[in-house]
Amino acid sequence: MAEVYNWQLGREMSYPYEARFPEWQFAFVFNPNRCIGCQTCTMACKSTWTFSKGQEHMWWNNVESKPYGGYPQNWDSKLLNMLEEANPGQQVWNISEKDADTKPYGTFNGMTIFEAAEKRPGPDGPQAALGYLPTDDEWRHPNIHEDTATGGPFKQEGQYGASAQLPEHKVWFFHLARICNHCTYPGCLASCPRQAIYKRPEDGIVLIDQSRCRGYRKCVEGCPYKKAMYRPTTRTSEKCIGCYPRIEGKDPTISPTGAPAETRCMAVCVGKIRLQGLVKKNPDGTWADDPKNPLHYLIRQRQVALPLYPQFGTEPNGFYIPPRWVPRNYLIQMFGPGVDHAIEQYTCPDRELLAVLQLFRANQQIIFRYEIEEGPKVCELEVTMPSGETKVQEIFNDTVLGFNKLGEEVVRITIEEPTFERPSEAHVNSI
Ligand code: SF4
Ligand code: SF4
Repeated sequence: MAEVYNWQLGREMSYPYEARFPEWQFAFVFNPNRCIGCQTCTMACKSTWTFSKGQEHMWWNNVESKPYGGYPQNWDSKLLNMLEEANPGQQVWNISEKDADTKPYGTFNGMTIFEAAEKRPGPDGPQAALGYLPTDDEWRHPNIHEDTATGGPFKQEGQYGASAQLPEHKVWFFHLARICNHCTYPGCLASCPRQAIYKRPEDGIVLIDQSRCRGYRKCVEGCPYKKAMYRPTTRTSEKCIGCYPRIEGKDPTISPTGAPAETRCMAVCVGKIRLQGLVKKNPDGTWADDPKNPLHYLIRQRQVALPLYPQFGTEPNGFYIPPRWVPRNYLIQMFGPGVDHAIEQYTCPDRELLAVLQLFRANQQIIFRYEIEEGPKVCELEVTMPSGETKVQEIFNDTVLGFNKLGEEVVRITIEEPTFERPSEAHVNSI
């Protein structure tokens, strides 16, 4: 085992291979506060990549209703249980020391899937990454428990709706959209005995070489997010390919000048919850200082978007703005100890954060840099913070500009959405 640095854990950790880093890293921010669970993303992916024989149960993009839903069923609670069994009572964070660059969420003192694997040797020795193979039944119902809430009763203190008051709703659920996280230290790659899985040096996308794969399903076992899947008709495993032709700017309709475009699932998102990007990496794996890259701004500077289950140890490159009505202990288990800070930022965004949040789904091309043109102040709002204190939020009608990789302007959007009135004489149904 090699020692590699995982900034999400704030420490070095064991990994089967020496660290190697791509020049750019495929990454994304999802905002479950806005996801309506429409599954447009799911169907866009399905109709592009997994519509063939043997792929019927394969959903590279899925949206599950938490806390009960999961594809495959109970994927996260099963692995959390396995980690707890391997390291009882010790899966904890130390948040007393933080550093924005090297340990933004403190230090995870528990065991990752790579470290805990040693504790559970099987007949063939320990796994490369602690994991399990889901049953066929667990894969069978991708949207089980859709929109099913937990908690209750709905009527509290003699008042309907009282159980749905911020800062934490007593009755709650939320939609968790998921794709492969194109991890920095992938569990799938670590587990493959054929070394058929690789990370592209140009963009960090993780792929399975179909000519090397023999379908042992070790990647299915070793991916903690269960995003590698087995295809019985070809007897190989398959996974999200990050729509790499689009990332390469090969779609002339979307990218006439050859600039990178967002994946299919990102580009169709009805709720505008998704912002995809490529973040520049230094040769030592740290994120290059790129303050006007919207992902760098949201993830590293403002820490408003957090990794999904960072404690698994794969350094996932998918980040989430935590849904602000959900009980904090659930969110902290899922997104780590940065949850309170992230929700506070999101509840009352300042001028720059509000502008950057407008970039979600504003164009199909990937935005590499933003600029803000200042506009007039339009109003003040009184906002109740999670602590109960009130703050005054000033809203300015700024314009945010987004530029693609080639420096071409592809987005120009104002904070206030412009309204247009149709002339009544032109449309019979005008009122
Ligand atoms: S999410 Fe799973 S399949 Fe994707 S790179 Fe990470 S470990 Fe591999
Ligand atoms: S398309 Fe967007 S809003 Fe709809 S389910 Fe997918 S992530 Fe959520």
